[in-house]
Amino acid sequence: MILKSGHESVLEHEKISVRMICDRGVTHEIVRNRMASYSQESTRYCNYSKDKFGSELTFIEPCFWNEEKDKLKRELWITQILEIETAYMKLLELGASPQEARAILPNSLKTEIIVSMNIREWRHFFKLRTSEKSHPQMREIAIMILNEFKIRYGILFNDIVNK
Ligand SMILES: Cc1cc2nc3c(=O)[nH]c(=O)nc-3n(C[C@H](O)[C@H](O)[C@H](O)COP(=O)(O)OP(=O)(O)OC[C@H]3O[C@@H](n4cnc5c(N)ncnc54)[C@H](O)[C@@H]3O)c2cc1C
Repeated sequence: MILKSGHESVLEHEKISVRMICDRGVTHEIVRNRMASYSQESTRYCNYSKDKFGSELTFIEPCFWNEEKDKLKRELWITQILEIETAYMKLLELGASPQEARAILPNSLKTEIIVSMNIREWRHFFKLRTSEKSHPQMREIAIMILNEFKIRYGILFNDIVNK
C-alpha cells in the first residue's frame, strides 16, 4: 500500500546491513551513495604480508573478460597485478608502512565492506546500480543483492526490475 501510494518515507524506519566482498573500484562507487553507513577493510592498517592474509594480496578478477575472446587483456591484467604484488611486498621489506605501500594498490584489490541502508535507500541504490548504464562489476554485485532481497523481503523489492 505504501509503495503504491509513493509514501516511501515510511520505509526509512528499517535498515538492512550487507557484507560485500568485491574490489576497491566497486566500493569507490558504493560509497557515493550517501544515505548509508559504511565500515571497510583498511588498506592503511592491513599488512597483507602477514600470515593472516596468507602473506599475499588478493584480487578480484574482472567479470567482463571472456577467457578465450579476451585472452590477451586478461593476461596483461594478470601480469600487472603480479608485478604490483611483488612491488608491494618489496616496499614493506624496505621499511614502508602499509599505509605508504598501499599507494601502488590497484582498483582490483579485494576488499570487504559492511553497508547499512534503510529500505528506501536500498530501493534507490538498486534502481541506480542494477541499470545497464552501471559499471559491470557494480551491477553484478547489485543484482546479486537485489535477488537475495527479493527472496527474503519480496514485498519491498519485487517491483524493481534488473534492466
Ligand atoms: C551509471 C552511473 C554513472 C555515474 N557516473 C559518475 C561519474 O562519472 N562521476 C561521478 O562523480 N559520479 C558518478 N556517479 C555517481 C552519481 O553521481 C551519484 O553520486 C550516485 O549514484 C549516488 O546517487 P544519489 O546522489 O542519488 O544517492 P545518495 O547519495 O544515496 O542520495 C540519495 C538521495 O538523497 C538526496 N540527497 C542526498 N544528498 C543530497 C544533497 N547534498 N543535497 C540534496 N539532496 C541530496 C537526493 O535526492 C539523492 O538522490 C554515477 C552513478 C551511476 C549510477
